[in-house]
Amino acid sequence: MEDCIFCKIINKELPSEIIYENDKIIVFKDVNPKAEIHLLIVPKKHIENINVITDEDKGLLSEMLIVAKKIAIDLKINLDTQGYKLIFNVGRGAGQTINHIHLHLLSGFSNQSLSEI
Ligand code: 5GP
Ligand code: ZN
Repeated sequence: MEDCIFCKIINKELPSEIIYENDKIIVFKDVNPKAEIHLLIVPKKHIENINVITDEDKGLLSEMLIVAKKIAIDLKINLDTQGYKLIFNVGRGAGQTINHIHLHLLSGFSNQSLSEI
């Protein structure tokens, strides 16, 4: 998709700190982290947001969650003392600024309000 920042990151036309990649999904660090750990789990398929997903995307969405938990385990996030949040912002009104579906993985908070993520 032309002019989509995340498609450009996926195509390596823009730099990013990639921490995981497979044929369908890429994970990179958020450029403006709202927590100690702030990663974006992004499908390579350009889908605008959760509001336009279809049955065809079921497998991809499950894979995003499986990738999220694998990364959390790799990072040894302790669920009792730290834990993590998985967030989809859906629509401008909810804070979505990039119109390419992405799952925020956040862990290690100070006083960040959820509404600012
Ligand atoms: P949204 O607000 O759409 O749910 O989340 C978009 C996220 O993408 C924001 O947290 C923002 O900091 C991050 N972001 C925006 N542009 C870039 C970029 O060029 N590179 C990276 N790594 N993250 C970005
Ligand atoms: Zn895109």
